[in-house]
Amino acid sequence: MAIDGPSGSGKSSVSKEVARRLGAAYLDTGAMYRALTFACVDAQLDLADAAAVTDAVKAAQVEIGTDPDHERVVVNGRDVTSEIRQPYVSEAVSAVAVILDVRAELVRRQQEIIAGHERIVAEGRDITTVVAPGAPARILLTAREEVRMARRGLQLGGTQSSADLQRQVVARDAKDSTVTSFTTAADGVVTVDSSDLDFERTVQAVLSVVEAAGAPA
Ligand code: C5P
Repeated sequence: MAIDGPSGSGKSSVSKEVARRLGAAYLDTGAMYRALTFACVDAQLDLADAAAVTDAVKAAQVEIGTDPDHERVVVNGRDVTSEIRQPYVSEAVSAVAVILDVRAELVRRQQEIIAGHERIVAEGRDITTVVAPGAPARILLTAREEVRMARRGLQLGGTQSSADLQRQVVARDAKDSTVTSFTTAADGVVTVDSSDLDFERTVQAVLSVVEAAGAPA
């Protein structure tokens, strides 16, 4: 199953729950971009230096857990599961993700992980279009901008100013949109708008798409 969407759409929590209910594995591709961004920042690389960032990404070892109940991300031997959620990583990640050679490397690694599982829910920005365009069920999970900002604010503990949230959600999506198209559904991709749905209804809406697609449930 392939699920794309902008930040704050509820993609990660919904995808994890869908994976649990389907007894499938779960791949958070955003966590891979975050882990590599952490590695580049930690090595004090200039993120505008595409060649240096690409070399670091190609050399980096990333281990990512695929159990929806247990998040684990390790980069170059260091457990960064919590660190990659820090705002400084969220703000830097697009600079790394817009480098096309970085994307090619990550797409390859993600396709390998997906191929190693019989059933997996993979989520990100380019899963329905580039990483797994042949997935039996492909979904674009969206929500109105104000809803996404409010959700991200809650996730971060309600301590962020609206300017910070704006930077983390809207500005990041604008940068990401230059290399991935996750604001409108590609052919054959079903849009689920979660703006007016609670969590359970969103999960149900996604599961109905999976069922209608005849994906093995
Ligand atoms: O999903 P999450 O917000 O954790 O993603 C972090 C960042 O990783 C995104 O803002 C985007 O820059 C990048 N990303 C991407 N392609 C994906 C998944 C994430 O470019 N498939």
